[in-house]
Amino acid sequence: MFIDDIINRESFTLEDIVYLLSISDKLHIERLKNHAYGIMKQYTGEKVYLRGLIEFSNVCINDCYYCGIRKSNHNVKRYTLENDEIIDTAKWCANQGFGSLVLQSGERNDEQFIEFVENTVRKIKEFTKSDILPNGLGVTLCVGEQSRETYLRFFNAGAHRYLLRIETSNPDLFSKIHPDFQIFNRRIIALKSLKEVGFQVGTGVMIGIPGQTINDLANDVLFFKEMDIDMLGMGPYIIHSETPMNAYYDDYSERKREIYKLSLKMIAVSRIILKDINIASTTALQAMYPMGREAGLMFGANVIMPMLTPTHVRSEYQLYNGKPCIDEFTSDCFECVQQRIESTGRTVAKDEYGDSRHYFNKKFS
Ligand code: SAH
Repeated sequence: MFIDDIINRESFTLEDIVYLLSISDKLHIERLKNHAYGIMKQYTGEKVYLRGLIEFSNVCINDCYYCGIRKSNHNVKRYTLENDEIIDTAKWCANQGFGSLVLQSGERNDEQFIEFVENTVRKIKEFTKSDILPNGLGVTLCVGEQSRETYLRFFNAGAHRYLLRIETSNPDLFSKIHPDFQIFNRRIIALKSLKEVGFQVGTGVMIGIPGQTINDLANDVLFFKEMDIDMLGMGPYIIHSETPMNAYYDDYSERKREIYKLSLKMIAVSRIILKDINIASTTALQAMYPMGREAGLMFGANVIMPMLTPTHVRSEYQLYNGKPCIDEFTSDCFECVQQRIESTGRTVAKDEYGDSRHYFNKKFS
């Protein structure tokens, strides 16, 4: 098969990637999936690492045209969790055995917010220390573009991984889905600052943005490679009805299956090319299809972020329609997550940080 020639290459051109993302017949997709799985097994192992996700605030100064919690959506009731509630959730997360958590929120750059995040991280690290986790939970932050100084403060407080998606590596497409005050280059600078500060840095894109081509997605993969990122989180773009992009797709339900498949192929291709990074199978995949996250694991992802956001605010953090589990009365417990993952034949890491191997491989190579 021609696909075998490509997947076994040492380096990949834009054309190679376009080819891999374009394959559509079952046999070829199966081949791509299995190859990606093998690479994952070889470079990161088969274990799945967990990060409890706490969406601690939906207050946002940005106005991303695709996002349900954008500043201009006045139908959202804004909240910021109290420090105590976040700490309690973090303690629960540690007791369950998740090992790490992600603190995510809308974006704010004011001093009060920065201090809040800094203090919260410090307290989480302090209050989750135990014999099993001598340094407390691993903390990943996902709180948007900040200055280098702010990133340094977060790092010194004890966070050691950071997620900031580029959303698309095509600057023209980026400017179409964001207002003028949100600037592509500033995000690149932020990603570079994160790296300089010492974070394990994750980025990612949305797949199926209106106007996005296969070429754009192939360039996204080359972008990840060029930026030498440690972690990757990608997911399908899903419409939110109260955003300016709600009318883009008349045929969204028809394209849904295609976008879903493309998302899985993006995971596989990124695994084949980037090898030893951590790749998350995201909630957006699960929002599209109930077993979407498990499918992502089969295509080479090795991280899952179970939902730990306290239930009373969950419905106020909807980036897109159809977010799963907003009506649940409890958070994902370790056993439930474990069972779902083990149903795919994988084992689950307990009480582990599950850091990006790439980060250490490049540091010590
Ligand atoms: N304010 C933080 C967190 C943003 S939410 C930050 O800027 O990093 C996390 C991610 O959700 C975004 O980066 C975006 O890629 C994704 N997202 C937002 N709206 C979405 C939508 N409608 N469909 C799919 N993903 C979406």
